[in-house]
Amino acid sequence: MLCGSVDCMTITHAPDGYRCPMCDVVAGRYSEHNQPSDLVADRDTVFALVSPKWWPNNPGGVLVVPREHHENIYDIPRDVGHELWDLTQDIAVRMRETYGCSGITVRQHNEPDGNQDMWHLHIHVIPRHHGDNLYSLSDQASWHDADSRKTYADKLRGRRSDQGR
Ligand SMILES: [Zn+2]
Repeated sequence: MLCGSVDCMTITHAPDGYRCPMCDVVAGRYSEHNQPSDLVADRDTVFALVSPKWWPNNPGGVLVVPREHHENIYDIPRDVGHELWDLTQDIAVRMRETYGCSGITVRQHNEPDGNQDMWHLHIHVIPRHHGDNLYSLSDQASWHDADSRKTYADKLRGRRSDQGR
């Protein structure tokens, strides 16, 4: 796909035959790590779901994801990038309203040296708490089951910050 920008370029690290977990979600193919109950927002070009992995003191992190497969920030079409950012903001507001967290961190990784480990662009929206040591515990992310994830997805779905105002 043409990104419509003079600055775009294609760099990929996905191995041959890569089975993309986010494209699986878009196609309705689920696994223990991604279930329909994880979804918190679904728009024309982007969606958001509770991440299957989170850090010890930051449960309920969310991934904001383009529906089409784009590996990284270098080749994301500008209009999709704008939709990603709009949804990222909405998720951050909902998270701040419903989780009881006192901060939000947003981050996005590109290429192995940028700590990317899933080859479909995604933005992490991470709830933060005073003294949570997110960065010093960065190697301690662990998988969480569908019931644990659903607790957070239900909070985010149940109280939309863009409604009722
Ligand atoms: Zn994909």
